[in-house]
Amino acid sequence: MTAACLMNTYKPLPLSFVRGEGARLWDDSGRHYLDAVAGVAVTNVGHSHPWIVSAISEQAGLLLHTSNHYRIDWQQRLAAKLTRLSGLEQVFFNNSGAEANETALKLARLYGWAKGIEQPLVLVMENAFHGRTLGTLSASDNGAVRLGYQPMSGEFVKVPFGDMDAIKQAARTYGERIVAVMLEPVQGEGGVTLPPPGYLKAVRAHCSQNGWLMILDEIQTGIGRTGRWFAFQHEGIVPDVMTLAKALGNGIPIGACLASAAVARLFTPGSHGSTFGGNPLACRVGCTVLDIVEQQGLLNNAAGQGERLLARLREALAGHPDVLQIRGLGLMVGIELSRPIRDLCLTAAQEHGVLINVTRGHTIRLLPPLIIDEADVERIVSAVVGALG
Ligand SMILES: *Cc1c(COP(=O)(O)O)cnc(C)c1O
Repeated sequence: MTAACLMNTYKPLPLSFVRGEGARLWDDSGRHYLDAVAGVAVTNVGHSHPWIVSAISEQAGLLLHTSNHYRIDWQQRLAAKLTRLSGLEQVFFNNSGAEANETALKLARLYGWAKGIEQPLVLVMENAFHGRTLGTLSASDNGAVRLGYQPMSGEFVKVPFGDMDAIKQAARTYGERIVAVMLEPVQGEGGVTLPPPGYLKAVRAHCSQNGWLMILDEIQTGIGRTGRWFAFQHEGIVPDVMTLAKALGNGIPIGACLASAAVARLFTPGSHGSTFGGNPLACRVGCTVLDIVEQQGLLNNAAGQGERLLARLREALAGHPDVLQIRGLGLMVGIELSRPIRDLCLTAAQEHGVLINVTRGHTIRLLPPLIIDEADVERIVSAVVGALG
Protein backbone atom coordinates (compact mmCIF):
# COMPACT_ATOMS: atom_id res chain seq x y z
CA MET A 1 0.00 0.00 0.00
CA THR A 2 1.22 3.51 -0.72
CA ALA A 3 0.09 6.88 0.57
CA ALA A 4 -0.01 8.35 -2.98
CA CYS A 5 -3.74 9.08 -2.71
CA LEU A 6 -3.30 11.20 0.41
CA MET A 7 -2.50 14.90 0.26
CA ASN A 8 1.04 15.51 1.37
CA THR A 9 0.45 17.40 4.63
CA TYR A 10 2.10 15.07 7.17
CA LYS A 11 5.31 13.07 7.23
CA PRO A 12 4.21 10.10 9.37
CA LEU A 13 6.70 7.80 11.09
CA PRO A 14 6.90 4.28 9.62
CA LEU A 15 4.70 2.95 12.43
CA SER A 16 1.07 1.93 12.29
CA PHE A 17 -1.05 0.88 15.22
CA VAL A 18 -3.93 -1.53 15.19
CA ARG A 19 -4.94 -1.73 18.84
CA GLY A 20 -4.66 0.15 22.10
CA GLU A 21 -5.37 -0.52 25.74
CA GLY A 22 -4.76 1.96 28.55
CA ALA A 23 -1.37 3.57 27.97
CA ARG A 24 -0.27 0.83 25.52
CA LEU A 25 -0.46 0.62 21.72
CA TRP A 26 0.18 -2.43 19.52
CA ASP A 27 1.57 -2.08 16.00
CA ASP A 28 0.72 -4.20 12.98
CA SER A 29 3.58 -6.59 13.73
CA GLY A 30 2.32 -7.27 17.26
CA ARG A 31 4.92 -5.20 19.09
CA HIS A 32 3.67 -2.96 21.90
CA TYR A 33 4.67 0.55 22.96
CA LEU A 34 4.09 2.88 25.88
CA ASP A 35 2.15 5.85 24.51
CA ALA A 36 3.56 9.13 25.88
CA VAL A 37 1.88 11.22 23.16
CA ALA A 38 -1.79 10.23 23.67
CA GLY A 39 -2.66 11.27 20.12
CA VAL A 40 -1.39 14.78 21.01
CA ALA A 41 -3.19 15.24 24.36
CA VAL A 42 -6.38 13.53 23.16
CA THR A 43 -6.64 10.06 24.70
CA ASN A 44 -6.27 11.31 28.28
CA VAL A 45 -8.18 8.41 29.87
CA GLY A 46 -6.26 5.85 27.81
CA HIS A 47 -7.12 3.67 24.84
CA SER A 48 -10.18 1.41 24.78
CA HIS A 49 -11.44 2.52 28.18
CA PRO A 50 -14.35 0.14 28.91
CA TRP A 51 -16.74 2.96 29.90
CA ILE A 52 -16.04 4.74 26.60
CA VAL A 53 -16.37 1.52 24.62
CA SER A 54 -19.82 0.87 26.05
CA ALA A 55 -20.93 4.53 25.75
CA ILE A 56 -20.04 4.48 22.04
CA SER A 57 -21.54 1.10 21.26
CA GLU A 58 -24.72 1.74 23.24
CA GLN A 59 -25.25 5.17 21.67
CA ALA A 60 -24.48 3.84 18.17
CA GLY A 61 -27.33 1.39 18.62
CA LEU A 62 -29.71 4.13 19.78
CA LEU A 63 -29.07 7.36 17.91
CA LEU A 64 -26.11 9.14 16.32
CA HIS A 65 -27.49 12.35 14.90
CA THR A 66 -30.63 14.43 14.76
CA SER A 67 -29.30 18.04 14.19
CA ASN A 68 -29.58 21.04 16.42
CA HIS A 69 -33.13 21.63 15.22
CA TYR A 70 -34.16 19.33 18.08
CA ARG A 71 -33.32 19.29 21.77
CA ILE A 72 -30.37 16.96 22.47
CA ASP A 73 -30.38 15.58 25.99
CA TRP A 74 -26.70 14.52 26.09
CA GLN A 75 -25.68 17.99 24.90
CA GLN A 76 -27.50 19.58 27.82
CA ARG A 77 -25.97 17.11 30.26
CA LEU A 78 -22.44 17.74 29.00
CA ALA A 79 -22.97 21.51 29.10
CA ALA A 80 -24.24 21.24 32.69
CA LYS A 81 -21.16 19.25 33.74
CA LEU A 82 -18.70 21.58 31.98
CA THR A 83 -20.23 24.72 33.43
CA ARG A 84 -20.23 23.20 36.93
CA LEU A 85 -16.54 22.29 36.63
CA SER A 86 -15.38 25.57 35.07
CA GLY A 87 -17.51 28.32 36.58
CA LEU A 88 -18.50 29.47 33.10
CA GLU A 89 -22.18 29.51 32.27
CA GLN A 90 -23.03 28.49 28.71
CA VAL A 91 -21.59 26.23 26.02
CA PHE A 92 -21.62 25.97 22.23
CA PHE A 93 -20.42 22.63 20.80
CA ASN A 94 -18.18 22.22 17.75
CA ASN A 95 -16.29 19.33 16.16
CA SER A 96 -12.70 20.49 16.64
CA GLY A 97 -10.42 22.89 18.42
CA ALA A 98 -10.06 25.33 15.54
CA GLU A 99 -13.84 25.56 15.24
CA ALA A 100 -14.21 26.17 18.97
CA ASN A 101 -11.68 29.00 18.65
CA GLU A 102 -13.59 30.42 15.66
CA THR A 103 -16.66 30.43 17.91
CA ALA A 104 -14.72 32.34 20.57
CA LEU A 105 -13.43 34.85 18.00
CA LYS A 106 -16.93 35.36 16.64
CA LEU A 107 -18.09 36.14 20.19
CA ALA A 108 -15.25 38.69 20.47
CA ARG A 109 -16.44 40.30 17.20
CA LEU A 110 -20.00 40.49 18.50
CA TYR A 111 -18.74 41.89 21.79
CA GLY A 112 -16.94 44.69 19.96
CA TRP A 113 -19.87 45.29 17.65
CA ALA A 114 -22.24 45.64 20.62
CA LYS A 115 -19.88 48.29 22.03
CA GLY A 116 -19.80 50.14 18.72
CA ILE A 117 -16.15 49.29 17.98
CA GLU A 118 -15.88 49.20 14.21
CA GLN A 119 -12.38 47.79 13.82
CA PRO A 120 -11.90 45.44 16.78
CA LEU A 121 -8.47 44.09 17.69
CA VAL A 122 -7.60 40.93 19.62
CA LEU A 123 -4.28 40.64 21.45
CA VAL A 124 -2.60 37.28 20.80
CA MET A 125 0.72 35.81 21.86
CA GLU A 126 4.01 35.19 20.13
CA ASN A 127 4.44 31.44 19.49
CA ALA A 128 0.70 30.86 19.92
CA PHE A 129 -1.11 28.02 18.19
CA HIS A 130 -4.88 28.22 17.83
CA GLY A 131 -5.62 26.05 14.78
CA ARG A 132 -5.53 25.82 11.00
CA THR A 133 -8.63 27.62 9.75
CA LEU A 134 -7.97 30.99 8.13
CA GLY A 135 -9.16 32.82 11.25
CA THR A 136 -7.24 30.77 13.80
CA LEU A 137 -4.15 30.74 11.55
CA SER A 138 -4.18 34.54 11.73
CA ALA A 139 -4.31 34.30 15.53
CA SER A 140 -1.40 31.83 15.57
CA ASP A 141 2.28 32.65 15.38
CA ASN A 142 4.10 29.85 13.67
CA GLY A 143 5.81 30.72 10.42
CA ALA A 144 5.56 27.18 9.06
CA VAL A 145 1.79 26.82 9.48
CA ARG A 146 1.13 30.33 8.04
CA LEU A 147 3.55 30.20 5.09
CA GLY A 148 1.83 30.88 1.78
CA TYR A 149 -1.60 31.60 3.26
CA GLN A 150 -1.35 35.40 3.24
CA PRO A 151 -3.13 37.73 3.62
CA MET A 152 -3.65 37.14 7.32
CA SER A 153 -6.57 38.83 9.04
CA GLY A 154 -5.48 42.21 10.37
CA GLU A 155 -7.46 42.04 13.59
CA PHE A 156 -4.69 40.45 15.67
CA VAL A 157 -1.94 42.23 17.56
CA LYS A 158 0.89 40.05 18.76
CA VAL A 159 2.65 40.47 22.11
CA PRO A 160 5.33 38.34 23.83
CA PHE A 161 3.84 35.53 25.96
CA GLY A 162 4.21 35.99 29.71
CA ASP A 163 4.98 39.71 29.47
CA MET A 164 2.39 41.85 31.27
CA ASP A 165 4.14 45.11 30.35
CA ALA A 166 3.74 44.29 26.66
CA ILE A 167 -0.02 43.98 27.17
CA LYS A 168 -0.13 47.36 28.94
CA GLN A 169 1.93 48.90 26.15
CA ALA A 170 -0.49 47.51 23.54
CA ALA A 171 -3.37 48.96 25.54
CA ARG A 172 -1.75 52.42 25.31
CA THR A 173 -1.05 52.02 21.58
CA TYR A 174 -4.38 50.61 20.43
CA GLY A 175 -6.69 51.90 23.17
CA GLU A 176 -10.38 51.46 22.59
CA ARG A 177 -10.01 49.13 19.62
CA ILE A 178 -8.94 46.16 21.74
CA VAL A 179 -11.83 43.82 22.58
CA ALA A 180 -10.08 40.68 23.85
CA VAL A 181 -6.88 38.87 24.77
CA MET A 182 -6.61 35.29 23.51
CA LEU A 183 -3.99 32.93 24.89
CA GLU A 184 -3.04 29.40 25.91
CA PRO A 185 -2.38 28.99 29.68
CA VAL A 186 0.64 26.84 28.72
CA GLN A 187 1.74 27.01 25.09
CA GLY A 188 1.72 23.48 23.71
CA GLU A 189 2.71 23.55 20.05
CA GLY A 190 4.88 26.57 20.88
CA GLY A 191 7.20 24.34 22.94
CA VAL A 192 5.52 23.64 26.32
CA THR A 193 6.08 27.21 27.48
CA LEU A 194 4.81 28.28 30.90
CA PRO A 195 4.18 31.94 31.73
CA PRO A 196 5.61 33.33 34.98
CA PRO A 197 3.45 32.62 38.08
CA GLY A 198 0.74 35.25 38.51
CA TYR A 199 0.62 36.13 34.80
CA LEU A 200 -2.87 34.73 34.12
CA LYS A 201 -4.15 36.48 37.21
CA ALA A 202 -2.65 39.78 36.04
CA VAL A 203 -4.13 39.33 32.55
CA ARG A 204 -7.50 38.59 34.15
CA ALA A 205 -7.34 41.78 36.22
CA HIS A 206 -6.24 43.87 33.24
CA CYS A 207 -9.06 42.49 31.07
CA SER A 208 -11.63 43.28 33.77
CA GLN A 209 -10.31 46.81 34.26
CA ASN A 210 -10.39 47.55 30.54
CA GLY A 211 -13.57 45.75 29.56
CA TRP A 212 -11.69 43.23 27.40
CA LEU A 213 -12.66 39.58 27.11
CA MET A 214 -10.15 37.08 28.45
CA ILE A 215 -10.27 34.13 26.04
CA LEU A 216 -8.34 31.05 27.15
CA ASP A 217 -7.54 28.32 24.64
CA GLU A 218 -7.51 25.21 26.89
CA ILE A 219 -7.73 22.82 23.96
CA GLN A 220 -4.46 21.14 24.94
CA THR A 221 -4.30 22.02 28.65
CA GLY A 222 -7.93 21.23 29.54
CA ILE A 223 -9.60 18.08 30.91
CA GLY A 224 -7.00 17.32 33.56
CA ARG A 225 -3.82 17.53 31.49
CA THR A 226 -2.11 19.91 33.94
CA GLY A 227 -3.46 18.26 37.10
CA ARG A 228 -6.57 20.47 37.37
CA TRP A 229 -9.69 20.32 35.22
CA PHE A 230 -8.53 23.49 33.50
CA ALA A 231 -5.12 25.14 33.75
CA PHE A 232 -6.62 28.51 34.77
CA GLN A 233 -7.66 26.88 38.05
CA HIS A 234 -4.00 26.88 39.15
CA GLU A 235 -4.33 30.66 39.45
CA GLY A 236 -7.80 30.88 40.96
CA ILE A 237 -9.30 32.89 38.12
CA VAL A 238 -12.15 32.35 35.63
CA PRO A 239 -11.82 33.62 32.04
CA ASP A 240 -14.75 35.12 30.10
CA VAL A 241 -14.44 32.55 27.32
CA MET A 242 -12.69 29.17 27.19
CA THR A 243 -12.27 26.68 24.36
CA LEU A 244 -11.89 22.91 24.66
CA ALA A 245 -11.50 20.01 22.22
CA LYS A 246 -8.78 17.30 22.14
CA ALA A 247 -9.29 15.26 25.34
CA LEU A 248 -12.97 16.11 25.74
CA GLY A 249 -13.87 13.24 23.39
CA ASN A 250 -10.85 10.96 24.04
CA GLY A 251 -10.68 10.45 20.26
CA ILE A 252 -14.29 11.13 19.26
CA PRO A 253 -14.17 14.57 17.56
CA ILE A 254 -15.71 17.30 19.70
CA GLY A 255 -14.96 20.92 20.51
CA ALA A 256 -16.61 23.35 22.89
CA CYS A 257 -16.65 27.08 23.47
CA LEU A 258 -17.71 28.08 26.99
CA ALA A 259 -18.56 31.62 28.05
CA SER A 260 -19.97 33.68 30.86
CA ALA A 261 -23.70 34.37 30.51
CA ALA A 262 -23.06 38.04 29.68
CA VAL A 263 -20.89 37.06 26.70
CA ALA A 264 -22.83 33.97 25.57
CA ARG A 265 -25.94 36.17 25.37
CA LEU A 266 -24.44 37.86 22.29
CA PHE A 267 -25.45 34.81 20.23
CA THR A 268 -29.09 34.64 19.22
CA PRO A 269 -30.95 32.00 17.19
CA GLY A 270 -29.41 31.91 13.72
CA SER A 271 -26.24 33.84 14.56
CA HIS A 272 -24.03 30.74 14.81
CA GLY A 273 -24.43 27.04 14.11
CA SER A 274 -22.99 23.62 13.30
CA THR A 275 -24.41 20.53 11.60
CA PHE A 276 -22.52 17.92 13.61
CA GLY A 277 -21.61 20.02 16.68
CA GLY A 278 -23.08 18.62 19.89
CA ASN A 279 -24.40 15.39 18.45
CA PRO A 280 -25.60 12.69 20.89
CA LEU A 281 -22.61 10.39 20.35
CA ALA A 282 -19.90 13.00 20.90
CA CYS A 283 -21.68 14.53 23.90
CA ARG A 284 -22.34 11.19 25.55
CA VAL A 285 -18.66 10.31 25.17
CA GLY A 286 -17.76 13.75 26.58
CA CYS A 287 -19.91 13.05 29.64
CA THR A 288 -18.24 9.66 30.04
CA VAL A 289 -14.74 11.18 29.82
CA LEU A 290 -15.60 13.65 32.60
CA ASP A 291 -17.05 10.81 34.73
CA ILE A 292 -13.87 8.78 34.31
CA VAL A 293 -11.55 11.67 35.17
CA GLU A 294 -13.66 12.45 38.24
CA GLN A 295 -14.38 8.95 39.53
CA GLN A 296 -10.97 7.44 38.83
CA GLY A 297 -9.06 10.29 40.52
CA LEU A 298 -7.16 11.22 37.37
CA LEU A 299 -6.60 14.87 38.32
CA ASN A 300 -4.57 13.78 41.35
CA ASN A 301 -2.79 11.13 39.36
CA ALA A 302 -1.86 13.62 36.61
CA ALA A 303 -0.56 16.10 39.18
CA GLY A 304 1.40 13.47 41.12
CA GLN A 305 2.85 11.53 38.18
CA GLY A 306 3.57 14.84 36.42
CA GLU A 307 5.70 16.02 39.36
CA ARG A 308 7.42 12.65 39.48
CA LEU A 309 8.14 12.71 35.73
CA LEU A 310 9.57 16.23 35.90
CA ALA A 311 11.72 15.40 38.93
CA ARG A 312 13.00 12.12 37.48
CA LEU A 313 13.83 13.74 34.12
CA ARG A 314 15.73 16.53 35.87
CA GLU A 315 17.66 13.96 37.86
CA ALA A 316 18.41 11.65 34.94
CA LEU A 317 19.32 14.41 32.49
CA ALA A 318 21.26 16.67 34.88
CA GLY A 319 24.30 18.03 33.06
CA HIS A 320 23.31 16.48 29.70
CA PRO A 321 25.07 18.58 27.03
CA ASP A 322 22.03 18.72 24.68
CA VAL A 323 19.44 19.69 27.31
CA LEU A 324 18.73 23.39 27.85
CA GLN A 325 15.66 23.22 30.07
CA ILE A 326 13.10 20.77 31.43
CA ARG A 327 9.71 22.27 32.27
CA GLY A 328 6.09 21.31 32.64
CA LEU A 329 2.81 21.39 34.48
CA GLY A 330 1.05 18.16 35.35
CA LEU A 331 1.47 15.69 32.50
CA MET A 332 2.47 18.31 29.98
CA VAL A 333 6.25 18.19 29.96
CA GLY A 334 8.82 19.74 27.62
CA ILE A 335 12.55 19.09 27.30
CA GLU A 336 14.16 21.87 25.32
CA LEU A 337 17.25 20.78 23.45
CA SER A 338 20.11 22.94 22.22
CA ARG A 339 19.81 21.40 18.75
CA PRO A 340 17.34 19.33 16.72
CA ILE A 341 18.14 15.61 17.02
CA ARG A 342 17.29 13.59 13.92
CA ASP A 343 14.95 10.61 14.24
CA LEU A 344 14.55 11.08 17.99
CA CYS A 345 10.89 9.94 17.97
CA LEU A 346 11.66 6.93 15.80
CA THR A 347 14.63 5.92 17.95
CA ALA A 348 12.55 6.19 21.14
CA ALA A 349 9.85 4.02 19.57
CA GLN A 350 11.97 1.41 17.81
CA GLU A 351 14.79 1.03 20.32
CA HIS A 352 12.98 1.81 23.57
CA GLY A 353 9.31 1.04 22.86
CA VAL A 354 8.07 4.48 23.95
CA LEU A 355 6.19 6.99 21.79
CA ILE A 356 7.29 10.61 22.30
CA ASN A 357 6.69 13.81 20.35
CA VAL A 358 8.94 16.69 19.31
CA THR A 359 7.58 20.20 18.76
CA ARG A 360 9.27 23.20 17.18
CA GLY A 361 12.04 20.88 15.99
CA HIS A 362 13.99 20.84 19.24
CA THR A 363 11.62 20.44 22.19
CA ILE A 364 10.65 16.93 23.29
CA ARG A 365 7.00 17.04 24.33
CA LEU A 366 5.62 14.38 26.66
CA LEU A 367 1.83 14.09 26.90
CA PRO A 368 1.14 10.63 28.35
CA PRO A 369 -2.41 9.65 29.29
CA LEU A 370 -3.49 10.72 32.80
CA ILE A 371 -3.67 7.07 33.91
CA ILE A 372 0.06 6.33 33.91
CA ASP A 373 1.73 4.84 36.98
CA GLU A 374 5.20 5.00 38.53
CA ALA A 375 6.55 2.18 36.34
CA ASP A 376 5.35 4.00 33.21
CA VAL A 377 7.14 7.16 34.36
CA GLU A 378 10.38 5.17 34.72
CA ARG A 379 9.98 3.70 31.24
CA ILE A 380 9.45 7.16 29.74
CA VAL A 381 12.51 8.53 31.54
CA SER A 382 14.77 5.68 30.44
CA ALA A 383 13.50 5.92 26.83
CA VAL A 384 14.19 9.66 26.69
CA VAL A 385 17.64 9.22 28.24
CA GLY A 386 18.38 6.33 25.92
CA ALA A 387 17.19 8.09 22.77
CA LEU A 388 19.16 11.26 23.60
CA GLY A 389 22.28 9.11 24.01
C1 LIG B 1 -4.66 21.25 18.88
C2 LIG B 1 -4.89 22.68 19.23
C3 LIG B 1 -5.76 23.48 18.48
C4 LIG B 1 -6.45 23.01 17.21
O1 LIG B 1 -7.33 21.97 17.43
P1 LIG B 1 -7.88 21.14 16.16
O2 LIG B 1 -8.85 20.19 16.77
O3 LIG B 1 -6.71 20.49 15.52
O4 LIG B 1 -8.54 22.12 15.26
C5 LIG B 1 -5.98 24.78 18.92
N1 LIG B 1 -5.36 25.26 20.02
C6 LIG B 1 -4.51 24.51 20.76
C7 LIG B 1 -3.88 25.09 21.98
C8 LIG B 1 -4.22 23.20 20.37
O5 LIG B 1 -3.36 22.48 21.08
